[in-house]
Amino acid sequence: MHVHTLIIGAGPGGLACARTLAQQGITALVLERKKSIGPKVCAGGITWSGLISRVPEELAEKSFPTQHIHTPWQKVRIEEKTPIIATVNREKLGQQMAQQAIEAGAIIRTGTIVRTIKEKKVIVQDRASEQKEEISFDYLVGADGSSSLVRRHLGLRSRRLGIGINYQIPGNLQQMEWHLNNRLFGNGYAWIFPHSDTVSIGAYADKETMGPTQLKTSLLHWAGKQGFQLGNHRARAEYINYDFQGWNFGHTFLIGDAAGLASGLTGEGIYPAIISGEETALTIANPKHCSNSMDTLINKHDQHSRMVRLSAKNGFLNSLLAELMTLGLRTGMVKFHKLEMAV
Ligand SMILES: Cc1cc2nc3c(=O)[nH]c(=O)nc-3n(C[C@H](O)[C@H](O)[C@H](O)COP(=O)(O)OP(=O)(O)OC[C@H]3O[C@@H](n4cnc5c(N)ncnc54)[C@H](O)[C@@H]3O)c2cc1C
Repeated sequence: MHVHTLIIGAGPGGLACARTLAQQGITALVLERKKSIGPKVCAGGITWSGLISRVPEELAEKSFPTQHIHTPWQKVRIEEKTPIIATVNREKLGQQMAQQAIEAGAIIRTGTIVRTIKEKKVIVQDRASEQKEEISFDYLVGADGSSSLVRRHLGLRSRRLGIGINYQIPGNLQQMEWHLNNRLFGNGYAWIFPHSDTVSIGAYADKETMGPTQLKTSLLHWAGKQGFQLGNHRARAEYINYDFQGWNFGHTFLIGDAAGLASGLTGEGIYPAIISGEETALTIANPKHCSNSMDTLINKHDQHSRMVRLSAKNGFLNSLLAELMTLGLRTGMVKFHKLEMAV
């Protein structure tokens, strides 16, 4: 079988790329190893300014014009007229994006894992029948997340990784909270993100400053103090790749987490995945496409990465930066949108 563009991974990046390619008249084949599209370890927070035009409002489970930020020294409440962040169910987001891509003309095959990449072709395996097949392509898009096979095929290592741990527990809370505490979470943070009838409670940290076991221990300890007994619930954890080393490699492209485009500062990755997916599609359709959106995204990513590197230097500096940033948010000198990947 031969296809014009093969996209590996049906996350938000791969689906945005497939939809945009189809809108440009190019039929892409998306291969997804999972049996269904959408489920993903995630807190489901979408920054409203960046995604409002791309995610239908009815997908938002809860919207938050108020953010609560806690540090060892400050408790800050930031309020805006319109929602700053909304929560979405990743399964529903995935299903909706897949439907849009299919309606535009893309082809999606689930339960199909890409095993090997060779020059201009891949070997894929159907998970149910275990049958193998060869697919050749003109363009290859690696939208296969933080442990990307395409990235490894290009010889790129991922040295800068964040760790995200999430518990999705039943509950109906109204307040979105961020807790920064260097002693517990290194240069990361813990969150409470309410969904419609569940709550995402989790923690994110740069792997440089904290290992997964220590982060989980801190999270359980902290959550207990907040009144959440997480011991009986299932923790789900994944790496978040923020080691960006390029996205356009001629006939091979990397997008989203595979490209290392998630924020190292906050772990926000849905917006960068969608933007890089759309821009990759426009570049494949027209190699002369001038990708200003990609330049802006890379610039923002770089700013976040520099802040992570600075805060990872030592605990005192990190605590100081966290307190100064929170003070800035309280006084209005720092806008919350500065912490988002959208401009
Ligand atoms: C705990 C946690 C909380 C998070 N919270 C947020 C949040 O609140 N807001 C936010 O914006 N971001 C959040 N993120 C980050 C966000 O989930 C990712 O950045 C985003 O999903 C990246 O999208 P993607 O399309 O690049 O990759 P993914 O969503 O990872 O999709 C990659 C797809 O590729 C498939 N795949 C991989 N290898 C193969 C293969 N060989 N063959 C076929 N298919 C393959 C995978 O099954 C997967 O479906 C969080 C991450 C974690 C871990």
